Amino acid sequence: MRTVVYPGSFDPLTNGHLDVIARAARLFDRVIVAVAQNGEKQPLFTPEERCTLVRGATRRLRNVETRIFDGLLVDYVRGCDAQAVIRGLRAVSDFEFEFQMALMNRKLDERVETIFMMPKDTYTFLSSRLVKEIARLGGDVRDFVPGNVRVALRKRLKE
Ligand code: ADP
Repeated sequence: MRTVVYPGSFDPLTNGHLDVIARAARLFDRVIVAVAQNGEKQPLFTPEERCTLVRGATRRLRNVETRIFDGLLVDYVRGCDAQAVIRGLRAVSDFEFEFQMALMNRKLDERVETIFMMPKDTYTFLSSRLVKEIARLGGDVRDFVPGNVRVALRKRLKE
């Protein structure tokens, strides 16, 4: 059984994340989307809400599970009996941070591999931060996030 963990804040899930999840689901027997409890300082959605949004958007992908995670990533990965971590790479600007983190995780536990996946080219400019900014300013995010996320954004920003 090949299991991979895809960690992140997912505040909220975008089509770029979803593209990476779908690609990973074709390569691995089991994909665990791990929603970080302490990712962002002031998240728009709670970890539970972020989980629910990922679950809603990945319902059709049978080998994808979503869980909240806390603590050290390498410990979590071993605890899930996973062999690897997936991270998305959008542009060169992602590289430095991701490279540093992958090597640090290897230092902490050399059995855990990090695999980088590139999303479809049309999603390389997408980030949760930009999506939130556009939504806050009243812009249309329909091309950037799944339907359930669009509805949740509209609701949260009206509250
Ligand atoms: P962070 O972990 O920095 O909070 P996110 O939760 O937004 O970042 O994203 C989790 C992972 O998904 C990271 O590896 C990030 O590079 C990747 N990612 C984010 N947006 C996209 C996108 N549009 N296409 C591909 N990968 C992405």
